[in-house]
Formats: sequence, C-alpha cells, structure tokens
Amino acid sequence: MKIAIIGAGMAGLSAARAIGDRAEVVLFDKSRGVGGRMSTRYAGAYEFDHGAQYFTLSDPDFRAVIEGLDDAARWDSRALYLKRGALEADTGRPRWVGAPRMNRIPKALAQGLDITLGARVARIGGEPGALDLVMEDGTPQGPFDRVICTTPAPQAAALLPSRSPVQGMLASVTMHACFALMVGFPKDGTAFAPAWDTLRVADLPVSWIAVNSAKPGRDHDPVTLVVHAAPDWSDAHAEDDRAAVQATLLDCASALCGVRLDQAPHIALHRWLYAYADEGVGETSLVDPLTGTVLAGDWCVGGRVEGAWQSGRHAAARLFA
Ligand code: FAD
Repeated sequence: MKIAIIGAGMAGLSAARAIGDRAEVVLFDKSRGVGGRMSTRYAGAYEFDHGAQYFTLSDPDFRAVIEGLDDAARWDSRALYLKRGALEADTGRPRWVGAPRMNRIPKALAQGLDITLGARVARIGGEPGALDLVMEDGTPQGPFDRVICTTPAPQAAALLPSRSPVQGMLASVTMHACFALMVGFPKDGTAFAPAWDTLRVADLPVSWIAVNSAKPGRDHDPVTLVVHAAPDWSDAHAEDDRAAVQATLLDCASALCGVRLDQAPHIALHRWLYAYADEGVGETSLVDPLTGTVLAGDWCVGGRVEGAWQSGRHAAARLFA
C-alpha cells in the first residue's frame, strides 16, 4: 500500500510513525522544515519558538514517545497569570518543550521518514484507491492508495472536492489567528530580568509572554521574549497594517514587562493565520467518503500538540481497521 501524508507537523509525523513499515509512506509539506506550528524562528544570534510554547503529556502513549526522545525537557517555569490587575500563580499540568529548541521534537520524529519539503499540494485528485496529489505547479504526485491530510481545517477544505460531504464539517471549524512578536535583547545579561518565565494575561491585546531564553537547554543570554496576541484580538486585526499591529503589541507588552521593548535590537512579527482551533469536531479523525482521504490535525481534538499527535495516530489506525 502507498500512502501520501500532507503536512509534516505533529499530526502528520505521528501518522507516519504509527503506520511504520506497514505501508510505503511519503510526506509532503509546503514549508522549508518539518514541525508546522511547532517551529523555531532563527534570526542571527536569536532563536524563538514562535508557535507552540510548550506541550503536556496527559496521554500515556504520547508520554512514552516524548520521554523516549533526547530532545524533550520538562520546563519548570516560573509561571504567573495576570487577571483584572491581580497576579496569581499560573498552575496547570507540567510543561514540556523541545530542547534546545521546540523544532527538535518534530525533527526527531521525522528521522528516517520520506519527506518532501517545499511541496505545496493544490488539490487531491484521482479516484479512491488511485489518488493523485496535484502540486501547486500543476504536476501530479502519485498514484496513492490512500491520503492522510493533516493541514488546518480551512486548508484541508481547499484541497478536497467542493461537493465532498465533509465540507460542511470543515466549514464549522473555527480557527483563530495569533500574532507572535519576537524580541531579542542585547547580549549583556542585564537588559531585562523579570521575576517570571511566563506571564499569561487576560483581557488585553497581549495574552502571553514567555522568556524564550529561560527554557531548558537554551542560552540564557541574550534574553529573548515571545509575545502572543490574544486570539480574539488577532482575529480582529489579522489584516491590519503590520507596523500598527507591532506597535500596539510592543506598547502593551512593554507595560506588562516594565521595560521599553521598542528599544530592543531585534524585533520581528509573525502572523499565524490558523493558530488555534476552538474545540474538537467530536471525532479524533474524519474520512472524506468521496476520496477516502483521512483528515487529521489538532482541530479534530481541540487544538493542542498532544491532540495533534492523537489525531495523527487515529488517522493511521483507520487505514488498517
Ligand atoms: P500543523 O503543525 O499546522 O501542521 C500542518 C502542516 O501542514 C504544516 O507543516 C503546513 O506547512 C502543512 N501544510 C498546510 N497546507 C499545506 C499544503 N497545501 N501542502 C503541503 N503542506 C501543507 N499547543 C500546545 O499544546 N501548547 C501551546 O503552548 C501552544 N501554543 C501555540 C501558540 C501558537 C502561536 C500557535 C500557532 C500554536 C500553538 N499551539 C500550542 C498549537 C500547536 O502548535 C498545534 O496544536 C500543533 O502543532 C498542530 O499540529 P498539526 O500537525 O495538527 O498542524
């Protein structure tokens, strides 16, 4: 059996590993690297985990996978939550990260897999059992017996026939944008030394600030910050002028940090258009009855790294049920 997987983020990698050597598997991803939203941005002396900040290990099978990697570390962060002007401890499940950077987790899971990067799929064509992937330059890849698509729901909808019965379900999935502001301080260790590693915030344009350089395995100097805008604020301003978005987030984060972030030597902004899914669709993966394509991704199960891994695994199991 020959299987194509669209997307080499956590869901696609999880699916590929669950299939193992039971079939011939080829992954395609439009990006330059694996990991999708678990990626790391490099900028000279600076590195930023600008997507997923950490992940949890509630699922015992996921825990076993992660604990088997040399590239994962528990992050015992000093975590605070600012709500209505009051600071409290931000409690929750233990946080895990890739070390020394988030993309080490997908890179470790990608080892040994057949992955074509820089390959954007434009649509899924052909017949059930003999499916083609039509790439954006019009060239077909295939045929494949089955396809697993792990892109965010709105992107999956664009790849499937418009008459597919799953289009209604895909259209019902709400995915929120997120602006990620990356700030790098000078390398002198004194520019900024907050009493927290993460600050979660309610009711402001900024919803999260992490001292990226405080994560395990990173150089603690220079200090780097990742600032995330709140999902509702990001949705409302997704198409705004980027300079204006950056200025608002810098102002808000500066007030929260008590230091002028606009003076930092490195400032960059990234927009994640499909960052978070609201809630799951009630199934861990879905099948398009028209093409037999299996649909997976964090959006099936509520939008977290752990959910993406579960969904990919579930999609793989469907192929052999
Ligand atoms: P993705 O990682 O999005 O992978 C999909 C892949 O498909 C991508 O690599 C993309 O390039 C590829 N693709 C898309 N379209 C095409 C196409 N047409 N052709 C080829 N390839 C295509 N989760 C947590 O658990 N904890 C957190 O703290 C956390 N924070 C987050 C903060 C931000 C800013 C963001 C953006 C996400 C965060 N998440 C967090 C969510 C987490 O990152 C995701 O749940 C998880 O990484 C999703 O994995 P996935 O494989 O489902 O999707």
